[in-house]
Amino acid sequence: MLAFGELGAEVDSRPRGSSAQSQSQSQHHYIHSFSNTQHNTQHSSAAIDSSTCDAAKISLQTGHCGHCEALSINVSPQTTRFTALPKDIQQLQKIDPSKLSISKTTTPKELTPPEELVFGRTFTDHMLSLEWTASQGWLPARITPYQNLSLDPATCVFHYAFECFEGMKAYKDSNGQIRLFRPDKNMARFNGSCARIALPTFDGKSLMELISKFVALEERFIPSTRGYSLYLRPTMIGTQRTLGVGPPGSALCFVIASPVGPYYPTGFKAVSLEATDYAVRAWPGGVGDKKLGANYAPCIVPQMQAAGRGFHQNLWLFGEEEYVTEVGTMNLFAAMINKETGKKELLTAPLDGTILEGVTRDSILALARERLEPEGWAVAERKFTMKELADAADEGRMLEVFGSGTAAVVSPVRKISWKGRLVGCGLQEGQEAGPVAQQMKDWIEGIQYGDEEHPWSVKI
Ligand SMILES: *Cc1c(COP(=O)(O)O)cnc(C)c1O
Repeated sequence: MLAFGELGAEVDSRPRGSSAQSQSQSQHHYIHSFSNTQHNTQHSSAAIDSSTCDAAKISLQTGHCGHCEALSINVSPQTTRFTALPKDIQQLQKIDPSKLSISKTTTPKELTPPEELVFGRTFTDHMLSLEWTASQGWLPARITPYQNLSLDPATCVFHYAFECFEGMKAYKDSNGQIRLFRPDKNMARFNGSCARIALPTFDGKSLMELISKFVALEERFIPSTRGYSLYLRPTMIGTQRTLGVGPPGSALCFVIASPVGPYYPTGFKAVSLEATDYAVRAWPGGVGDKKLGANYAPCIVPQMQAAGRGFHQNLWLFGEEEYVTEVGTMNLFAAMINKETGKKELLTAPLDGTILEGVTRDSILALARERLEPEGWAVAERKFTMKELADAADEGRMLEVFGSGTAAVVSPVRKISWKGRLVGCGLQEGQEAGPVAQQMKDWIEGIQYGDEEHPWSVKI
């Protein structure tokens, strides 16, 4: 059995009958009954007409199973980003949520006491899964007991990393109502990731409807205490059994859920970063702007190296100019006094293909434009360099720096190691967060937990 650490997923390659966990569910339809299905039909061939979408000029030519080398993806040289999804493709990938079947567990888990929760270690009773085949499209969704996957060792996800995922949360408000935060954004991003690695797309509204039903079923796992939530992990994998390199003829979308506690249980704790130039996380024309599993494993060794030198995370720099891009797996914001205008400025890197399009990033930008600009702030998505940050620190113009992401909302930064020196990020000794980071966390959590009614918070 292979264990996959943080994802908590295990792949059981033994026959189903030998798995103790699956025996109790033997009367149910196996989730992964596709695993031994011969892929004997011709792959569907998808041709995306570049006239319908100038952002994604791709054409796929596919051969028979086992001859998938026939794949060719031609991206026009001017195109550095896959963004829009062609309409005809979207229409092919309909999900019918009314066909959902639910088989409940007969052995409900005991709840972990909230204070003992460790991120991504405990999971709820059930999982949501949907299979897709090139010939049949999306098959009816199923909610089943949480269980191992059974996949042939030749399954394409294990060899060529056909995998992408999302990270989002469900919150319980003071009335016990369950809420999601901007789930449409996660669905759109998930579709963008899938499309980029030749996995099927889907209609986001229907998947949201299914996820809502799944979350409602797992209600008892969502702690009502402020700061707690149910972390949701929608995942898509290519499941075709072949060593041929080509578009998967079958796929599995599954959603698992993990109750999580606050990122900072005892209040903010500012982190220190190591500016990293010897390893590159993302580059123009690459896939760093997509949530592909393959983007994350290569970041662990640089992170361990930074940790060995006493820094929590990598600050990913890009290019000879040393543009500041992201921190660890979060977006980065810097607040400083602009040298020319003398105005307070909140900065983050633009979406140029090297930046993951964070939902939190977008929310912070929108709130800053709505609520900080009237107070005299300038808000800018623009490239900025490590030298600009260091100059601001040297000239007393640095106000604060923080990361942003679903897990923590914001994560304040104390200092950055760069070229043998430490660049201070505006916090006083003993101060763990600047006022903008604190304000953003309060505003966003206020919306997530329904203290402030806002269109971003979706009741399920
Ligand atoms: C997921 C992720 C983020 C944050 O995105 P949110 O939608 O705000 O959680 C930022 N950077 C990277 C590299 C990520 O994977």
